[in-house]
Amino acid sequence: MNAKTLVVVAGLVLFTVAVAAQSSRKADLQKWGIHDEARPLPPVVDPGPAGPPAPVPSDAVVLFGGGDLSGWTDAKGAPAAWKVQDGYMEVVKKTGAIRTTRGFGDCQLHVEWASPSPAVGSGQDRGNSGVFLMDTYEVQVLDSYGSKTYADGMAGAIYGQYPPLVNASRKPGEWQTYDIVFHAPRFDKAGALLAPARMTVFHNGVLVQDNEELTGPTAHKARPPYKAHAGKMPISLQDHGHPVRYRNIWIRELGQ
Ligand code: MG
Repeated sequence: MNAKTLVVVAGLVLFTVAVAAQSSRKADLQKWGIHDEARPLPPVVDPGPAGPPAPVPSDAVVLFGGGDLSGWTDAKGAPAAWKVQDGYMEVVKKTGAIRTTRGFGDCQLHVEWASPSPAVGSGQDRGNSGVFLMDTYEVQVLDSYGSKTYADGMAGAIYGQYPPLVNASRKPGEWQTYDIVFHAPRFDKAGALLAPARMTVFHNGVLVQDNEELTGPTAHKARPPYKAHAGKMPISLQDHGHPVRYRNIWIRELGQ
């Protein structure tokens, strides 16, 4: 075998491995029911210590810089009622989800968050919130440090669909990061799905979602099909009744 052939063969092997990894994640969707407690939990990875807020790239739009919630409203368009203090915002129970006043489609999104400390509750009732792309597709926020829940509902999960590849959670009270690359689904004029949404997620710098194809919008105990939507839509953060904190949220629009 000459060098050129070797390179081609090596390339084919790598491609096959990558395709197999992707299709096994998809096969898992058939294998495991939604929120199946028997679905294996991913291995734990120590991501290292929390750092200061990540630097903001020069072409990013700052959605929350620590000062106020002027770029956010509640679901009805009224001023967001979450607490702002010392450079972070905190969920105020029963005030509802908040969303950006601006809409976004394909994007790179950076979010920093911290679970309540000391931790209260267990499973889904422990530091639950969520980051919704296009107000529709959730990356779960949860205290998954030494705390168990169903795999497709833990921190770093694309909720109800894909568990994170590893559990890279930090302790309650420590700042954690999500870096999300999101490609919006595409629909034709009649509303038929042309291409599903795709997401890549790094949790505390560790890859937890590798270009996954979403099955449809996020739901609880269901995997509903896509419903066509057009144009840009807000980023939203979930009020699940727990005082989860957020800081340093910025976004870079892709393919504009
Ligand atoms: Mg949630």
